[in-house]
Amino acid sequence: MQTRPCWVEISTSAFEHNYRLLRQTARSHGLGRAASESETAPELLAIVKADAYGHGLEICAKAAEKAGARWLGVTSVEEAAAARRICPDAEILVISGPFRGQGADVLAQRLTCVVWDSWQLQEMAAAANDANSPHDSVPVHLELDTGMSRQGVDSEQLDTILAQLCLYPALRLTALMTHLYAADEPDSITTETQFKTLSLLVEKIHSAGLRPQWLHVGNSAALLAGSAWNRLLEICCQFQLRPMMRPGLALYGLAPQFSPYELPAVAEWRQALQPALTWKTKVVSVRTIQPGQTVGYNGTFVATEPMRLALLAVGYADGLKRALSNRGAVLVRGKRAPIIGRISMDQTVVDVTDIPGVTPEDEVVLLGRQEDECITGDDHAAWAQTVSWEIFTSITARVERRSI
Ligand SMILES: *Cc1c(COP(=O)(O)O)cnc(C)c1O
Repeated sequence: MQTRPCWVEISTSAFEHNYRLLRQTARSHGLGRAASESETAPELLAIVKADAYGHGLEICAKAAEKAGARWLGVTSVEEAAAARRICPDAEILVISGPFRGQGADVLAQRLTCVVWDSWQLQEMAAAANDANSPHDSVPVHLELDTGMSRQGVDSEQLDTILAQLCLYPALRLTALMTHLYAADEPDSITTETQFKTLSLLVEKIHSAGLRPQWLHVGNSAALLAGSAWNRLLEICCQFQLRPMMRPGLALYGLAPQFSPYELPAVAEWRQALQPALTWKTKVVSVRTIQPGQTVGYNGTFVATEPMRLALLAVGYADGLKRALSNRGAVLVRGKRAPIIGRISMDQTVVDVTDIPGVTPEDEVVLLGRQEDECITGDDHAAWAQTVSWEIFTSITARVERRSI
């Protein structure tokens, strides 16, 4: 066990609560349709890429499985291999596709890859050939580009890819997918435009005689906003596909920031979701400084009155964004203590002048709740002018993840 006091606590019950709540909503969207039985009900793919958004793959993959998740989504074959060790029976999707030379691993670990480019199909087909894989035994999910221009096959390339799929009998197209890139913009027509493109592409695939089982779209924003469900279910009904969404952030208890305004449904979600992560450290030592004394590198903070300062065992090498220097705050004894001066690599100084009784060993919350106060991933993101996803994935490996 690590003894430098800088660690993250993950509430597995919060994570499980979030998963169950999201799945319940997904299922409720399937009600009243042919797809209401659990065999055909809308599904969720729990996104646990990037070490479960910095929360720790081992803790979160187990919690997801305990909450009933069948599907886990990770970025790479490497991450998928780690997930396979934790969850021997899960369906594991490699969402950024295989790299050259990884086909054999994909088969050995029973992974499913997202594919969209010719060379990826070749890689998988060659591995299947080497392994003497039977017909239809290697599942692939085909990503369709509906406007993000990141991953995915566009309408121009689609024929080539479909023809290629037919050349490789070991490969079986089990799902189609696309990514909604502006589901957090309630006023935008982007999502509707994406669905129109998606519908055309799916139709083309259906006409080519291919019969994948699944269609998955959308992230937390799409799931929480709720508006994408109708369009997804429509296409699924039309082409006998089973719907799935891929929440990430919401599983960890945060709702994305919507712009230019938040939908009432999202505001409700914000209340219902439970943040799973609390980032803690301890006070190392306490000192008093006098007017005119400076704090930290380059003396960017100058005291104008006597102050009490607490030194904390955390710095930017732990992932505490340096942009929080002279801007962010932490919680000590249930109160907010401003970060003053520049955050160092391993240490940070906070102002505890107005918090009586602070002493070494006091527990400090960097992110999360302490008594009645709370600092969220969104607070950190606002201070650092980024998004909460980056805040969580910035917490570095030397910060131990403990499940509580
Ligand atoms: C990361 C990712 C998600 C999850 O996004 P959130 O906004 O965190 O819910 C869904 N789908 C794909 C393809 C992703 O890469």
